[in-house]
Amino acid sequence: MSLPKAATHLATDVLVIGSGAAGMAAALAASREGARVLLADRSLIGRSGATIMAQMTVAVALGEETPDDWEAHFADTMKAGRGLCDANLARLVCERGPAAIRQLDAWNVGWARGADGHLRQTQAPGHDRPRCVYVDFLSTGPAVAKTLRAQVLKNSQIVRVGDLCITDLIQTDGAVSGAVAFSMADGRAVSIAAAAIVLATGGVTRIYRRNSASANMGGDGHALALRAGVELMDMEFVQFFPIGHLAPRLVGMDPIMWDPFRYKLGGQLLNGEMKEFMSHYDDAQENGRYVVTRDKATYAILKEVEAGRGTPAGGAYLSFQHIPEEKLREAFGPVIDRLADNGIDLTKMPVEVAPIAHYHMGGVRVDEALETRVGNLFAAGELVAGANGANRLSGNAITEALVFGEIAGQGAAQRALSEARTVWHPAAASAALELVEAVSGETDFNATHAIADLQDVMADLVGPFRTRQGLEVALEKVAELKDASGDQPPGHSKPYNSARLDWFDLRSMLSVAEAIIRTALSREESRGGHQREDFPGMDERWAFHQTVALGHDGLILGRAPVHAEALVEIV
Ligand SMILES: Cc1cc2nc3c(=O)[nH]c(=O)nc-3n(C[C@H](O)[C@H](O)[C@H](O)COP(=O)(O)OP(=O)(O)OC[C@H]3O[C@@H](n4cnc5c(N)ncnc54)[C@H](O)[C@@H]3O)c2cc1C
Repeated sequence: MSLPKAATHLATDVLVIGSGAAGMAAALAASREGARVLLADRSLIGRSGATIMAQMTVAVALGEETPDDWEAHFADTMKAGRGLCDANLARLVCERGPAAIRQLDAWNVGWARGADGHLRQTQAPGHDRPRCVYVDFLSTGPAVAKTLRAQVLKNSQIVRVGDLCITDLIQTDGAVSGAVAFSMADGRAVSIAAAAIVLATGGVTRIYRRNSASANMGGDGHALALRAGVELMDMEFVQFFPIGHLAPRLVGMDPIMWDPFRYKLGGQLLNGEMKEFMSHYDDAQENGRYVVTRDKATYAILKEVEAGRGTPAGGAYLSFQHIPEEKLREAFGPVIDRLADNGIDLTKMPVEVAPIAHYHMGGVRVDEALETRVGNLFAAGELVAGANGANRLSGNAITEALVFGEIAGQGAAQRALSEARTVWHPAAASAALELVEAVSGETDFNATHAIADLQDVMADLVGPFRTRQGLEVALEKVAELKDASGDQPPGHSKPYNSARLDWFDLRSMLSVAEAIIRTALSREESRGGHQREDFPGMDERWAFHQTVALGHDGLILGRAPVHAEALVEIV
């Protein structure tokens, strides 16, 4: 549903911002508690962000193929997180994941099943056994999104408003009381009174030139949270997906679709000289299997390219030529035809792959109730830091979105219906409304170009390999872009004014970029998704989280201890 005609003010118990898996799970959980929910998204409800793009697998200890339990999943998650997982949050994901996945099964998501009726579970790198469920063929995310959407659609407690871009959170007496937004359709400014809020705006990878993201993944939620006084954490840890499609040209397919191919069929990763190389960088011997974790595989591929052993387009070869066509068809049916439409015959040629910005381990700092340090403000999904430490295991993100969404939605509803609910005061929203309604004269500044410049800076200087010198240059460039962008959006509100939207997007992206660069500069070691060429290897003196908050004069960095053991008994 789009915004009711002429509405400029809405009111609800719980406002959920973002309608991916986390937002929809939060909305459903909040409504189960009896709250009125407003589910807002800057794009189509339940059809935007990362969830619907995910084509691969969901990690969960169901034990359908091999005996399994959540503790084994938890142990793998903690190990992959390179010492920085918050054990309480990781435990929530692993312990509550099975119930979330069974719930989707009961709602007919269509998890792939074997002839014996058991769910199929495949083994992904970093997991000690087959643990990942999926929906054939490459339909996991679309099926999850559709299933949640169907539940949201038939729930009369949930009001859905698409095309509504939230630009600021509003507070009363130190707790959130609502938000300000603009309608993408006509530029109209809108205020929303809400007694509690769940931020579920997803990740940040749009700030990189080569990314697997959609246009609405530029870190709006991180910037909203920062401006509201929330701490961000682990911002330096960006996950690069090692085998993003590079060449030949591939139209209409997910650039990270080679992952499920590797789960099911193994495949061979080769350098430009057609030689296996992963064993030079990791103890795990691939031998046609898929076992090396994402951070190590990214490192290995980029090092081969740097040493002059890359492929023509600058990556590695991924080959399935040794696998008979019947097996390829059995595993991927119609996908083989879609590849043929792109001129790719896997029986005759390898494809070229290279790392691509894919997921962000850092984000909003929350407690075990998924609440931030600002009253009545909860967060869920990829936006939240902690569960994955410095490196995420494949398949953990959708489980995380579902589990955290449920907990945050429930907590927000209970708060909204309690005595602790905050009251909306229109005056508190006036500055944020003025910004959305601001009318500016002609300017030479082009936010669209500035976004492209920022993406280049992040890719070239703040990518998988970082140095002090590069990070310092990146910080200067971000400061220049910030100065140039000014403090008001260009022009005036009009329908689908993309120049104005780009300005608001740039505002978020610059905040996120600065937080990533500053924490990357400060962390003088290499760990998981943060690799410093000038400080190779992990250094135990850095076994803590870095936090970022917004002070009067800009970002303030802090440190927080790691909860390496789950301290709370979760009920
Ligand atoms: C191509 C791709 C493939 C992936 N494959 C897998 C996989 O196989 N398995 C796995 O576990 N994980 C996978 N991931 C990661 C996983 O999909 C995400 O981490 C997860 O879906 C995030 O869910 P979310 O609900 O937190 O955010 P999202 O699904 O990204 O939803 C965020 C929503 O917030 C909205 N929003 C943002 N800003 C605003 C604003 N200012 N106002 C209003 N709305 C806003 C967006 O429009 C969007 O709809 C993949 C990611 C990508 C990009």
